[in-house]
Parts: sequence; C-alpha cells; structure tokens
Amino acid sequence: MAGRVDAGATASASVPAVGTFDDLLAANRAFAADFRFGGFDGVAHAGVAIVTCMDSRIEPLGMFGLTPGDAKIFRNPGGRVTPQALEALVLGVHLLGVDRILIVPHTRCAVASNTEQELRARVSASAGIDASWQHFSVVTDQLASLTEDVQKVRSHPLIPDATQVGGFLYDVDTGHVDQRV
Ligand SMILES: [Zn+2]
Repeated sequence: MAGRVDAGATASASVPAVGTFDDLLAANRAFAADFRFGGFDGVAHAGVAIVTCMDSRIEPLGMFGLTPGDAKIFRNPGGRVTPQALEALVLGVHLLGVDRILIVPHTRCAVASNTEQELRARVSASAGIDASWQHFSVVTDQLASLTEDVQKVRSHPLIPDATQVGGFLYDVDTGHVDQRV
C-alpha cells in the first residue's frame, strides 16, 4: 500500500482540478461497494471478441446478451480492423479463449457519413486551430470496408481457420444487428 502513496505523489503534477471527476469517482465507490467481478480470470467466457465503434449509442455486451467476463471488446472510430485490433484478436484467440469474432460497425456513424475534409473542418472549428494535419480514418463504403476488415481477420496467419469471423451492422435506431459478411 505504501507504494501506491508514492505513485500518487509522483503523478500529482498532472492531476486535474479537484472536483472534475468527483461524480464519476463517487459512482465508482458505489460500484466497488457492491463489486461482483473480483477473481475473474480475464478469459472471454463466451468465447467472443467484438470489434466495434467508440459510439456512445453502442452497448457491445448487452446487444448480444453478454455480461462482463464473457467477451473481449476492442473499440475505435468506425469499429475498424486496425493493426492494433488484429493484435487484440490474436491475443484473444490464442490466450483468452476467443473462438468467434464479430466486426460490428453501425448506422449513422460519423466516420462513415463525413469526408476526412469535413471532419478536419469540424475539428478545426471546435479547436480554434488548424486541424488539417490530423488523420481521420473515414469510410466511404461501409459494406466494402466491412468486407475488407473481415477478410483481414480471416486471412491473418495467426487466426486459425476454425475461428468463426462475421461482419455485422448495428442499427442505432432499432438495436437490431444484421450479419452482412
Ligand atoms: Zn461510429
């Protein structure tokens, strides 16, 4: 426990203003008081890994009837199969019990409904400084990108043929998931 105090002192220079996160930390104390996930082993108990978007309208466990402990979740803008997503999936398959992989982009996704120029302009307007140098991985054809992403996983030399890989689209207005690939 003494080590934790030292670590906190070291990090104090970058700690934000007191009060900024109070609501969330209070909620965490309630969460910890009724903590039900102690002793979990980190294996995906349902054998599931999900790659999906960072969008706040998505609840990746609930939408498939899963609960904490069941699945590995990797999220980024658009729910794309990036090199780091592949890294996560390889670890999931070989070390963490994953045998089914779902790639799940969604309707009305910002990175699929704006051009990179539009996102740069919007971020520039928000930031008040030029953002034209910032890369945004936009999607021009969601089904084509999904097909490509599923293929990236299926063809990865460290993802076994026995691993089931599917491409899906989540409808943020109805909650329905349809398999597309
Ligand atoms: Zn999205």
